[in-house]
Amino acid sequence: MLDGFTVLVALEGQWRLHDQPVLHQAMDLVRGHQGGRLVLLAARAEGQRLRGPHQRKLDHDALRALHARTEALGIPLLCFPELPTAAALEALAPVLQPDAVLYGEQSRLFADWPASKAKFPRVFGEFRRQIQGAPEPPLPEPEISVLANGLEAWSAGELETLRHRSMGPPAPPPGPSPERGPNRGDPRSAFPFRGDEASALERLQHYVFDSDGLKTYKASRNQLVGSEFSSKFSPFLANGSMSVRRIWHALEAHQAIFGPSEGCEWMRQELLWREFFLWSERAHGEAFHSESGIQGRLPKANPNRELFRRWTRAECGHERIDAQMRELNATGYLSNRGRQWVASHFVNSLQLPWTWGARYFEWMLIDADPALNTGNWAYLAGVGSDPRSFGGSPRRFDLEGQAKRYDPDGSHMQLWR
Ligand SMILES: Cc1cc2nc3c(=O)[nH]c(=O)nc-3n(C[C@H](O)[C@H](O)[C@H](O)COP(=O)(O)OP(=O)(O)OC[C@H]3O[C@@H](n4cnc5c(N)ncnc54)[C@H](O)[C@@H]3O)c2cc1C
Repeated sequence: MLDGFTVLVALEGQWRLHDQPVLHQAMDLVRGHQGGRLVLLAARAEGQRLRGPHQRKLDHDALRALHARTEALGIPLLCFPELPTAAALEALAPVLQPDAVLYGEQSRLFADWPASKAKFPRVFGEFRRQIQGAPEPPLPEPEISVLANGLEAWSAGELETLRHRSMGPPAPPPGPSPERGPNRGDPRSAFPFRGDEASALERLQHYVFDSDGLKTYKASRNQLVGSEFSSKFSPFLANGSMSVRRIWHALEAHQAIFGPSEGCEWMRQELLWREFFLWSERAHGEAFHSESGIQGRLPKANPNRELFRRWTRAECGHERIDAQMRELNATGYLSNRGRQWVASHFVNSLQLPWTWGARYFEWMLIDADPALNTGNWAYLAGVGSDPRSFGGSPRRFDLEGQAKRYDPDGSHMQLWR
């Protein structure tokens, strides 16, 4: 058993060092104790399902990079990618029983309920109206050397014991090698990035300051092809390699330099949608993910397994939907517009149970986040927070009209034929 005052930080799927409140708390604890040691744990957050193939690739990038950074500081990062945190702590118990265990939390703009907890708004407009106060600022970036300052070192023998227990950073998942080329396997991918913290921050700088991305965001965000029509922040937010407060802060900095802009305003609006679904999930508990949703109304659906199987294989027979599904299966990324088409077609035309589609997305998406995924699916299935659906039927997309508007030259279909 390793002794000495030890604080263990369970990162809970937040694979970054910047804007990590829990790391600051851990350092305070160690300092308050006049010294001690820190160890980081990367396991599956409680209640989090196993990640699908595309997200696993990003986790692999993020954890490898984090491992290299923290090990260089003498802070062990113990990886149990398949185990829930409690099981990982149990596996470590024979050699390590920390004096304190602190838990990382998913990055949110607000630290506390931004709208009424008791009567949480069912629609986004009301949520926006109720928001009081500004989002929290990100914490100052902990200088990596300051982070290690004041910590007692682990001996080589102790590090070896710990490493022996841990499974180590995850091995690259099967499939095309992540190291092969910038496009990570499929040259058509709209998300040709690695999933680690450095890549996340690079993308933030590029999209907000070094390109026209943010300036043109309002007009481009509904497009279907390429890496630049939208920010592509979602996979980084989902694996915690970027903090949402850091993004908000960058938008404020952009506004301070260039003045108010439509792009900035729309991006803020989208980040508030994210916030809305995260807090809705907390407010509504199990109902949020149930088939009857927050409206408590069971939609009509036909549980046809064969049709569902064809849909997952991009063989449902609608050429635009099949093209979207081919993109999803090959890369894990789909534009917001593409996701809306697919989900609307799934519930309205195929009439399959929306929770099946949501579960498949959660497995396949490179940015899968249960609250955002369910919130959007339930919205389109007419049992969530779409104000038009209360007491009525789900919103239906006219795919032909949509295609003329958003893919007039058929470039998405050609790409994903
Ligand atoms: C059926 C369906 C399922 C979805 N599942 C997910 C999911 O699992 N994970 C996920 O992150 N997003 C999900 N979305 C929301 C949205 O499609 C993605 O966030 C967006 O396409 C990601 O690309 P981006 O980062 O370039 O977006 P941008 O347009 O650049 O938006 C910036 C950020 O705003 C937030 N945002 C944008 N649109 C939405 C939205 N509709 N709801 C909530 N937040 C939003 C995201 O954090 C996004 O990264 C889903 C949407 C639909 C219709």
